[in-house]
Amino acid sequence: SSGISSFKTAAKKSTTQATLSSYSNNGKKNVVILGSGWGGISFLQHIDESKYNVTLISPRPHFLFTPLLPSTPVGTVDEKSIIEPVVNFAVKKTKGNVSYYEAQATKINHAENTVTIKSFSHVNPFGASKNPESIKKNDSADIKYDYLISAVGAEPNTFGIPGVEKHGMFLKEIEHSPKIRKQFIENIERANLLPKGDPERKRLLTLVVVGGGPTGVETAGELQDYVDQDLKKYLPSIAEEVQIHLIEALPVILNMFESKLTSYAQKVLEQTSIKLHLKTAVSEVKETYLVAKTKVSDTESKLEEIPYGTLIWATGNKPRSIVTDLIKEIPEQEGSRRGLLVDEHLKVKGLNNVYAIGDNAVAGLAPTAQVAHQEAEYLTKVFNKNQIGSAKPFKYLHYGALAYLGAEKAIANITYGKRQLYTGGGLITFYIWRLLYLSMIISWRSRFKVMSDWFKLALFKRDFFK
Ligand code: FAD
Ligand code: MG
Ligand code: MG
Ligand code: MG
Ligand code: MG
Repeated sequence: SSGISSFKTAAKKSTTQATLSSYSNNGKKNVVILGSGWGGISFLQHIDESKYNVTLISPRPHFLFTPLLPSTPVGTVDEKSIIEPVVNFAVKKTKGNVSYYEAQATKINHAENTVTIKSFSHVNPFGASKNPESIKKNDSADIKYDYLISAVGAEPNTFGIPGVEKHGMFLKEIEHSPKIRKQFIENIERANLLPKGDPERKRLLTLVVVGGGPTGVETAGELQDYVDQDLKKYLPSIAEEVQIHLIEALPVILNMFESKLTSYAQKVLEQTSIKLHLKTAVSEVKETYLVAKTKVSDTESKLEEIPYGTLIWATGNKPRSIVTDLIKEIPEQEGSRRGLLVDEHLKVKGLNNVYAIGDNAVAGLAPTAQVAHQEAEYLTKVFNKNQIGSAKPFKYLHYGALAYLGAEKAIANITYGKRQLYTGGGLITFYIWRLLYLSMIISWRSRFKVMSDWFKLALFKRDFFK
């Protein structure tokens, strides 16, 4: 029988340490997954739970469909449409033991084959009877594993630039989205009380997006869409004063695309009045302005102060502390700065039974959902066929890249490995972009909700509320 029949919440106060190996008596090996993102949830979906006892540990009780996150701050897509609770995936695993701890893994004890977890509640979708060891009164525990799959992702990198952490906003998790919306709304409200021409009004209506990768470009495009399509109808005089800046350190945005498409993208952004700053690095962020340094020649650069009301930081990631702590303990990982070094079977170098997939692994590939998903699929195949140690190496198949630019225009480069299937930019590409994103969503509930959000958008304005 399935269904969530047990949901145990641990008392927060006690600090008793317990070691949990819930399923060790049934002869199956325990596979423990860290993370509920693209890597972790894809692994959970594909692992054969009749062959392994499966435990997933993640502080985030939902999967997040990151490709559509840039659409949520302005309400093009609703936040709830692109998250899916972990238990909705877990209850589909009806052939064996699956357990979920809503907890943070704080340490991988590779010598003991355990993971220390903190502040957790425990969800066993199949009921207490299948879960012999109950966990009560613990806010910390060690979970035993035979195989560990690390898929904890990475965290936003501020490159140590002063002020970013304090004044900037990230767009990485779902809770970042309403924060950005709230700040933009409050700035609009405050600006509306100030007379035209007041520099404070101009500052409040300035949004700066740092990072010219897909996240930064799509976020800038979505913000501009809101301004042009909705705000213009409510507050036309405010809408015409909103200025969005996009700052990129390289000489080009979206550098994963061919130059024909990147120049098209730049043209679209400029037409929609987004101001592009290329070869520009932010060197300092203050509460009301930031300092940007633009390279004008090999030897010269120009400093500029840009007053801003909203700052969105989307420049890339760095490894989480659970990963950097582990790296320090393994000689084979010495000096690795970007994440866990893995071999061609995705096994963490220097360890026997720990694997890493997705953004926390360094396999020479881009940190994308596409990569994390394929790595998870590969690894579950190896596990399901009992080929651990004897499998063929992991091979990545590139399906291309997509980016939304705003104004119902997108660029796409769709490939099958080295074969190019489609390349283009414009309105048709925008519909292709939508179709492909729908197909990539990993739950039907979420897919249905996104489709209805887009349908609603054709009839009404965006939900842009605090
Ligand atoms: P994540 O998906 O980030 O998942 C990490 C998980 O680990 C989370 O559940 C987190 O809560 C959990 N975790 C963190 N710390 C711990 C801990 N200590 N213990 C246990 N669990 C922990 N890629 C594409 O291919 N196409 C796109 O269009 C695209 N668009 C993107 C748009 C945005 C806005 C962003 C931010 C990313 C986008 N990406 C895209 C990149 C893609 O989302 C990542 O590459 C992908 O999420 C990596 O998967 P992951 O499982 O490694 O990490
Ligand atoms: Mg993950
Ligand atoms: Mg994710
Ligand atoms: Mg997946
Ligand atoms: Mg990776």
